[in-house]
Amino acid sequence: MIRKMEPDLHPRLAAEIAARRDDLIALTQDLIRIPTLNPPGRHYREICDYLSDRLSARGFVTALVRAEGAPGDSETWPRWNMVARREGSAPGDCVHFNSHHDVVEVGHGWTREPFGGELDGDRIYGRGACDMKGGLAASIIAAEAFIATCPDFSGAIEISATADEESGGYGGVAYLAGQGWFDPDRVQHVIIPEPLHKDRICLGHRGVWWAEVETKGRIAHGSMPFLGDSAIRHMGAVLEEIEHRLYPHLSTKRTAMPVVPEGARQSTLNINSIHGGEAEAEPGFTGLPAPCVADRCRIVLDRRFLIEEALPEVKAEMTSLLDGLKSSRPGFDYTIRDLFEVQPTMTERAAPVVRSTAAAIEKVLGQVADYVVSPGTYDQKHIDRIGRLKNCIAYGPGLLHLAHQPDEWVGMQDMQDSALVMALVLADLLAPAAR
Ligand SMILES: [Zn+2]
Repeated sequence: MIRKMEPDLHPRLAAEIAARRDDLIALTQDLIRIPTLNPPGRHYREICDYLSDRLSARGFVTALVRAEGAPGDSETWPRWNMVARREGSAPGDCVHFNSHHDVVEVGHGWTREPFGGELDGDRIYGRGACDMKGGLAASIIAAEAFIATCPDFSGAIEISATADEESGGYGGVAYLAGQGWFDPDRVQHVIIPEPLHKDRICLGHRGVWWAEVETKGRIAHGSMPFLGDSAIRHMGAVLEEIEHRLYPHLSTKRTAMPVVPEGARQSTLNINSIHGGEAEAEPGFTGLPAPCVADRCRIVLDRRFLIEEALPEVKAEMTSLLDGLKSSRPGFDYTIRDLFEVQPTMTERAAPVVRSTAAAIEKVLGQVADYVVSPGTYDQKHIDRIGRLKNCIAYGPGLLHLAHQPDEWVGMQDMQDSALVMALVLADLLAPAAR
């Protein structure tokens, strides 16, 4: 079987996508105007219905899947997902575009209507414009333009819109992957149109380990602290060790992963929070705090690790630091609790979806694609681990630094260019077999 893209397909696809410019604008605006806020998970069913209506009118078979029993799923806030599949006219591979439909809270500082979808010049504004309703709209236009141009394609195209990426993806891609939707025998290539920018291919992400460390103390009157034992002072000793021993050690661990920004090409650790002693007063409380020695103090650690590191060794680094204090510091005791963990992942550059996307970027933009790895995780983690599918990348329009910001926007030209890249990938991977 010989696969060969017709030589004149690029200009024809470009023309089809250019002709759909108004449709792309309207689709992006419609998606932004459905305020799918997470938490708590608003309007998930509404956006899935909207997408299902559109895609079933264009020959896709659609399914609405509720992640029943997943974290966050309830009768009040059901976790709805939509998967659409369009079969070609001959057997072949399936290319799947996966976008999350949830958006984060609006926050302060907006000068535009957050759910207005306002078009101003080249930009469409709104919460979720770049992260990632613009990418979702671009992938839909790409698929529709491709189907119009090559109605006799081989294989299948899938488009999914999934819940809860912003809160871990358990009610979205993780659930679908657990139900077999990303099994390698039904899906062979996955593109996640997250806002990585139109000239970049994101191969994967670093690993994550979150943990809570608690130091123990003994409560006493604050005027006689020698009668108690301060958990805050013990935590101070932990922070001291982290500062003077762990941070210098972490900065020596460098990765071969092309993580951007470059500062994240090493192991990193953030202390997300610290709480010690009595609870903070309610807002508006006008009294004074009580004088007590802190009997406990907690920190939440956010450790990001590299593909060269193993998670047990990452954890042992922290516990050996704590055990060292336990043997050297009188009265020191601690507990540690795992909160969350994700393995690092990186798709190989030789993988078919990577090669095909790189070739399409070169055709559309006239430049060599940049390969990057994300410092934080996204839904690729579930496709990789639960779905066992390694041929997966993130590629989409929009600028990552605008995500979660006030006045978030996505550029029309970027959406059109990346839609053309995605359509060319479809043309390459789903070309009809030469007969
Ligand atoms: Zn996103």
